Amino acid sequence: MRATVLHGAGDVRIEVVPDPKLIEPTDAIVTVRSACICGSDLWPYNLMEPNGPHRRMGHEAIGVVQAIGSGVHTLKVNDVVLMPFAFSDGTCLFCQDGLQTSCIHGGFFGTVEVPGAQAEAVRVPLADGTLVVLPVDVDDAMMPSLLTLSDVMGTGHHAALRARVGPGKIVAVVGDGAVGLCGVIAARRLGAEQIIILGRRPDRTKLSSDFGATDVVSVRGEEAVERVRQLTGGLGAHSVLECVGTEQAILTAINIARAGGAIGRVGVPHYQAIPAAEPAFYSNVTISGGPAPVRAYIEELLPDVIEGRIQPGRVLDRVMGLDDVPDGYRAMNERKAIKVMVKP
Ligand SMILES: [Zn+2]
Repeated sequence: MRATVLHGAGDVRIEVVPDPKLIEPTDAIVTVRSACICGSDLWPYNLMEPNGPHRRMGHEAIGVVQAIGSGVHTLKVNDVVLMPFAFSDGTCLFCQDGLQTSCIHGGFFGTVEVPGAQAEAVRVPLADGTLVVLPVDVDDAMMPSLLTLSDVMGTGHHAALRARVGPGKIVAVVGDGAVGLCGVIAARRLGAEQIIILGRRPDRTKLSSDFGATDVVSVRGEEAVERVRQLTGGLGAHSVLECVGTEQAILTAINIARAGGAIGRVGVPHYQAIPAAEPAFYSNVTISGGPAPVRAYIEELLPDVIEGRIQPGRVLDRVMGLDDVPDGYRAMNERKAIKVMVKP
């Protein structure tokens, strides 16, 4: 089969690799019908050393079950399934607590160890715990929105929960990528009264307004902090969703949070230490977040997608075949696409 292989920074290729096979009895093999390129894929795309082990990329997918191991009981061949970016057994104490990204037996797709889903097929470990059967046909028009439940919509929702968004809250979202935009949807959905997005690209901030953002701050650094303060009566936001992962982004997030507020960080951190420890301490700001247990949120978000109350699939502004995936990485890296949907 064909699959996406990252060899080093800027060097992503479509290659013929062996078909995936059942290894453990708890495995399923899924034929991938839709996958995505993720903003987080751009980190290794830009930074990966050339001589290390290759990575089979992709961690978001919807597909059709092709085969199941003897230990799989909740799925059958031909089921249409959603694959979250992490696999999990669904039974350990962390899974029972809704923190499937810390599953004792779990892990992440698209790593050096576990081949990813930007491919014609993917092996899914712990299939009973990981996959969710979708009550729709694989060619359904709402497929892009369903696909976002495998990562970006669940991640935006996680940021909002960790930032303690609720009715009447003033929310700030740092970042206008797919996760930031989904964070706006999540904040609106949870009842936020004012939603300020910090982003600089007009096409994205326009979409954020459609999703419920009330204010756009398109400057950065100190100027952005100043502007958010102006928009919040000088006090800052109750809830800040940090959806980028740079030191500048977390610093801005801390500086725009009001006293007693909370930050939900979901941008993969590319900094060593959380900055502004002293101001964060004196204002009693809670800093929380991490990889979103999107598996825990699918049941909650699915009805909103199916019944059309939210349309996170609008962040997928390009559709490409597998052979065009290297162009897709380039387009996202140059910010010409918000997020690319891949149809193998
Ligand atoms: Zn578990």
